[in-house]
Amino acid sequence: MPFGWQWGADMSGYFYLTTPIYYVNAEAHIGHTYTTVLCDTIVRYRRLCGDTCFFLTGSDEHGEKVLEVARRRGESPAQTAEYFSNSFLRVWEEIGISHDRFIRTTDADHKQVVQQILQRVYDEGEIRFKEYEGLYCVGCERFLTDRDMLDGLCRDHERAPEPRTEANYFFDMGAHFSWLRDYIEQNPDFIRPERYKNEVLAMLDEETGLGGELCISRPKSRLDWGIELPFDTDYVCYVWFDALINYLTGIGYPDGPHFQDYWSNCEHVVGKDILKPHGVFWPTMLRAIGLEPPRHVSVHGYWNVDDRKVSKSLGNMIDPLIMREKYGFEAFRYFLLRDMVFGQDSNFSEDALVRRINADLANNIGNLVSRTLNMTGRFAGGLVPEPGAIEIPEREVIDAAATAVAEVDLRMRGMRPQRALESILALVDATNRYLELREPWKAAKDPELADTVSTTLHTCCESLRIVALLLAAFLPVAAAEILDRLGLGDALETAVLPASAEWGGIPVGSPTRKGKPLFPRIETAGAEDAESKDGAD
Ligand SMILES: [Zn+2]
Repeated sequence: MPFGWQWGADMSGYFYLTTPIYYVNAEAHIGHTYTTVLCDTIVRYRRLCGDTCFFLTGSDEHGEKVLEVARRRGESPAQTAEYFSNSFLRVWEEIGISHDRFIRTTDADHKQVVQQILQRVYDEGEIRFKEYEGLYCVGCERFLTDRDMLDGLCRDHERAPEPRTEANYFFDMGAHFSWLRDYIEQNPDFIRPERYKNEVLAMLDEETGLGGELCISRPKSRLDWGIELPFDTDYVCYVWFDALINYLTGIGYPDGPHFQDYWSNCEHVVGKDILKPHGVFWPTMLRAIGLEPPRHVSVHGYWNVDDRKVSKSLGNMIDPLIMREKYGFEAFRYFLLRDMVFGQDSNFSEDALVRRINADLANNIGNLVSRTLNMTGRFAGGLVPEPGAIEIPEREVIDAAATAVAEVDLRMRGMRPQRALESILALVDATNRYLELREPWKAAKDPELADTVSTTLHTCCESLRIVALLLAAFLPVAAAEILDRLGLGDALETAVLPASAEWGGIPVGSPTRKGKPLFPRIETAGAEDAESKDGAD
């Protein structure tokens, strides 16, 4: 079986990106929103590059926790799953997420795919039935782990669990561990950033010590909210063997028209809390199914809010719709992408959000837009003027644009969106500095400098066009507005990056308009402007 990649041979033109599917026991909070917005941004960028993309998100609906929530809500697990699944879907639609499918693990095609795969892996002898003994809490109606207990008692029920035997089905992950270890060593950016690769290698050692078995069933007598095992109708499939397979169902496994094209170009984005299922369980499952691993598993850190962990009890979940109401969704989206160094934890606070909006969006990008378009209106009759001679200052802006285009491409493909934004801001800074140097507001008073003024305004309009094309994946609405004000209303429909962002694309005579401030400054007591670029890799 061909398990080797043509690394770097990214020429197929297909791109498949997934968020994790979100568990239906809570509403969307800042963590879900970040992952989803990040994937949306990466996919939008790849679409702009002309790739044929598939962007999958969805909801994970089976398992014990849904049953618990359903009991509390006094409804069936199907109703609970429906309620929260719809809630996620509605939020993503409201904030303009561009997914191609919202998959639910209760979807008919998913059940069918899970059963088909279970049967196949079972027939190949990689699933074993075995009895084991554990500590069972009658109150919890489940086996407890060490973490569930304190001084030998169930934490929730403060009573001693009783030893009980149960029989379940186990997938033999361990059979593929030595292959997986080699694969990870040979493909160092399979799991990225690197620290998570090292964590997975440590997890592999730990799992090897534990026997390398993954329990994949629950007896129906204990839990019947799940997909029935095709080879034993007294059992349902449990958790990961059901959930992870969504990535295959979503693109039409096994014989959908583009299944292979997408699967060969698959990347998962996950939070670090689900690193083990994606770094250990999933590649071994895929190996058993006869499929290659995804190209990348990209792992991000946690968002804290006001320096505290996000939790229901603290009420600091950060509702994306409330953020949209207060600041506009693109500003919130920008903050999330700009302030999390991929892979590390980050902190959200509304003060930091306001400082960021004011510093980057209002003062920097917004200011360049308004100065450029105001002066093009005043000194060039609102039409992009013909440029004269290109001198050193112009050359510096042109070089900054070329650098930004190249860096954004590299950084987006390397899952470093915050660094890509820094590259765009560097071009904005260079153009603002250039305006300060050329001072067209003064030069316009001297008829002998008319050519210089034209060159300056042309340079700024062209730089703005490139800034807008590069920003389009991050801030789709604002970028389209900038292009529209440059008289290039349909530019995003025809653009193919990076070629369209090469210098010289703006037509002379393109009709511009000023418009209102793109990102109004947010005035709050005590909010100071953020320090400028502070990102690290
Ligand atoms: Zn208990």
